This record gives sequence, C-alpha cells and structure tokens, in this order.
Amino acid sequence: IEEQPVRPTHVEVDLSCLAENLAAIRQRVGDAKVMTILKANAYGHGLVPVARHMVRCGADCLGVAFLEEGISLRREGITAPVLVLGGIAGEQIPLFLQHDLTLTAPSVEKLHLIDETAASMGMRARVHLKVDTGMERIGIHYYSAAALLEASLACRHVIVEGIYSHFANADAEDLAHAKLQLERFMEVLSFYEKRSLPMPLRHIANSAGILQMPESHLDLVRPGILLYGVYPSHECQQTVAVRPALTWKSRVAYFKVVQPGHPVSYGSTWQSDKAVRVVTIPVGYGDGYFRALSNRSEVIIRGVRSPVVGRVCMDQMMVNLDQGTAYNGDEVILLGESGGHIISAAEVAEWAGTIPYEVLTNINNRVPRLYR
Ligand code: PLP
Repeated sequence: IEEQPVRPTHVEVDLSCLAENLAAIRQRVGDAKVMTILKANAYGHGLVPVARHMVRCGADCLGVAFLEEGISLRREGITAPVLVLGGIAGEQIPLFLQHDLTLTAPSVEKLHLIDETAASMGMRARVHLKVDTGMERIGIHYYSAAALLEASLACRHVIVEGIYSHFANADAEDLAHAKLQLERFMEVLSFYEKRSLPMPLRHIANSAGILQMPESHLDLVRPGILLYGVYPSHECQQTVAVRPALTWKSRVAYFKVVQPGHPVSYGSTWQSDKAVRVVTIPVGYGDGYFRALSNRSEVIIRGVRSPVVGRVCMDQMMVNLDQGTAYNGDEVILLGESGGHIISAAEVAEWAGTIPYEVLTNINNRVPRLYR
C-alpha cells in the first residue's frame, strides 16, 4: 500500500484480485475478446489505476460511459482502445476524434454526423453500431437496424469496428427475454452474412450474459460488476468464481457509554433500555454510506459484527458494540471481509433496498482509494 496521509476512512482495492477475476472471465469466454467496463469510476474502484492495471493484465479494450471518462484515460497516457458506450452530443464528436476514442453510433442521423465531422477533420472515426433488441435505451430498434447497417456501408470516414446490443435482464432466473434479445441481434447480424460482407466485432454479453448465456459471448464480452468480484443478482448462476476486490474501511474515532433512555443521533430514532457501549465511526452519507442504512446495517470490529444505531449522519455514524469491545483507532470494516466475517455489497444492497452496483458506485471521491 502506498505511503500517503489518508483519512481513516478509505477504500482498499486488491489489484491481484482484479487480475484473477479477469483471468477467470477469460477462461469462461474462450476466444472472445474482453472489454473491461470502467464507467462510474470503475464501479467505485478508481478509473485510472484500474484501467492501467487492466491493460497490464491484457484486457483487449476498455469501455466507459461518457466522453469525459475516455478523455481522463487518454490524459493519463492510456492508449488502449476505448469504447464510449453512452450517447453522444453532436458537438462532442471532434473531441472523440482528437482523443482517438471509439464512438457508439445509435442512429443513422448520428452516424452521418460522425462521418461528416470526421471528413471535415480529415480523419476516420472508429465506431460501434448500437442496436436496441429490447432495452428501449439508446440504439436503433432491431426491426429498423438494417437502415443503420446499410448507411454505414456508404460512410467513407467511418470504420465500423463493432456492432452491439445490451441485455435488459440476463441476470434473471427466467432468460426468455434475454434469449429473445439475442435472437433479434443474430437476425440483425445476418445482414452481413447475406451480403458476404466482413462481420464487425459482435457483442452483447454483460456480466450476466457471461455467467448465464454462453451462446451470447460472440466475439467480445463486456464484464463490469463481475470483474470487481460481485455477482449481478441473487438469481444469477455463479458459473465464474470471482472475489470482491474492494474493502471499505474506517477506524473507531470515539467511545462512550450511552445510558438507558438516551437516544442516539438525529431524530432520536434509536435508544437502549440498558447502558450500552457505543462507538462513533468517521464515515457518513457524505462519503456515500447510504443514510437508508440507519438502524439497518452492520460493521465488523475486532472480528465481531455490530449494528449501526441511530441515523447515519453526513460524516459520522454510531455503532452499538453490543457483544463486542473496541478501542479508539480500531479498524472498522464497512464492506469486505475480516476475522471470518463478510459484509458483501449484496448484503449492504439488501439492507439499503438497492443493488450492489449502487453500493459500489456510491462511494464518492471524498474516500481515498489505496491499491495493493
Ligand atoms: N455494457 C453496457 C453497454 C453497459 O451499460 C454495462 C453496464 O451497465 C455493461 C456492459 C456492464 O454491465 P455489468 O456490470 O452488469 O457487467
């Protein structure tokens, strides 16, 4: 771990774990290329350090959501291919080209705009065509997609490197909709076969597709959550063994004995009928620890799981030691493993009424990231 002054509240990212998760995914997908998905600050793990590491570990290409994320990678000297998955505003197209970022073309109109802009800059734009097969997000509908594919053939300043779609619920137990999406996608792709045209890279599989639908791996897969060692949902089959790479830690900042009938924190939502030992932890919703976890979550201190009591404040929260003991400065695990206990992103998500994705991406920039 790098030596630098850090808040007692910080995130530790295990880089070797990310490497192992990537290797496990590779094993599952055989010859398919792997695009590691790094949007939203690499799911809270830190965009640039994770990107660098993924490139070192042999990721074929990187995927981000926004232009700005792509530019951040280029400014840090990362030269690997980067696909920006999100929609594009017309005026941003020159920036994509200047930074050698691959664009998503979701409509004929945008594709023509990309072609014209590239022509005016004397360049060729790399694009992946985006087909909507049942998500109703960006992308041309599968039943109109031939128009986009046809239009792309006439674009002289565009290189169609890929064509892709995205699953809406490949993490479900019932895969009927995902299978329908894949069928629709394959039908769109037959355009190339029927005309004996070279096939661009075909991709549709997110983590759930990798886990549950081997027939969806095609030429390239796009793992996000799985790379970070977390499964997309409870129902999703765990056909690839991964470990969580992220541990969120803090330290005990204060110890006190709270007398019976003396409520803890804002709103006085919790009190005990006996004297209890309560510690204050310097983390709160201002760091991305959901306020919805008030009176619901647990943390690990000295190998014991203890409950968060009272409302989570902006910068602090209180824990009832109950069975445990603690001293000022003791390590607190908010998310991760310690002393044989695990607090998983899935468990925190369940307490907060959300999904593990939001637990990870919600940890904000006030929390330093350390890499080991
Ligand atoms: N591909 C696209 C287009 C996405 O939007 C995402 C994330 O939502 C992913 C891949 C990665 O998804 P997951 O984290 O479920 O693997």
